Amino acid sequence: MGCFDGKVAVVTGAARGIGRAIAEELAGRGADIVLCDLKKEWLDETAAAVQALGRRTLALAVDVGDSAAVNDCVKKVMDEFGRIDIMVNNAGITKDTLLLRMSDEDWDDVLKVNLKGTFLFTRAVARPMMKQRSGAVVNIASIIGLIGNAGQANYAASKAGVIALTKSAARELAPRGVRVNSIAPGFITSKMTDALSQEVRDQMLANIPMARFGVPGDIAKAVAFLASDEAAYVTGQCLSVNGGMVM
Ligand code: NAD
Repeated sequence: MGCFDGKVAVVTGAARGIGRAIAEELAGRGADIVLCDLKKEWLDETAAAVQALGRRTLALAVDVGDSAAVNDCVKKVMDEFGRIDIMVNNAGITKDTLLLRMSDEDWDDVLKVNLKGTFLFTRAVARPMMKQRSGAVVNIASIIGLIGNAGQANYAASKAGVIALTKSAARELAPRGVRVNSIAPGFITSKMTDALSQEVRDQMLANIPMARFGVPGDIAKAVAFLASDEAAYVTGQCLSVNGGMVM
């Protein structure tokens, strides 16, 4: 499924976790990969893994919430590769706390990375993709954006926003050959979920019909599908990858 020979993919938050797995999955199917994260040196391991698969990499320090940095990144990609075929908006953060204790800063920081960052990169790649008359954007949302969660009002709102942004962008870009979809992962083992208490983890496991947590590769394979020609008639959708946790 999904041959990406000659294609160029940009993956944000590629230093670790789900982003790293996505970069490796797309490279394994033939894509050259532009790796973005807050610090360039954090990308060394992912870059080495992608290069070991025989693909080219460009590692860039980009704060996805910084408009100028995002535009500069896309310009560099066009200068270096001349095209962008796949954009994966994966970078994301949490700042969990109950609503009454949530500061303005907790709210703004999470919305800035998760939602504004996805908007900025989607807007920046839209022009070159429209000119090519082809391209696929895959935005990493969350199951929490579908059902909400106590202690995650900021995160839930940001991810629901990503799902709605995806649908609007999909409608605008569809006539120009550009597809935009999102993925709502359930509980995936990573640094983000390592931070949760055993009690919360046990509670979550009890609600997963497949009785296991997901792994980053589960999300990476779904990204590969949505980015590929196998999904040529799929746009504006939110694909849940959650072991049946929400149906
Ligand atoms: P992670 O914390 O392991 O990795 C996130 C990456 O994003 C890190 O490398 C981090 O440095 C980078 N990042 C953070 N802020 C950034 C910024 N401003 N600019 C550029 N890069 C930035 O998390 P993960 O679990 O791999 O999550 C990846 C994505 O999947 C996130 O969007 C997250 O919300 C989403 N998600 C994760 C889960 C899960 O269970 N792990 C579930 C649903 C959704």
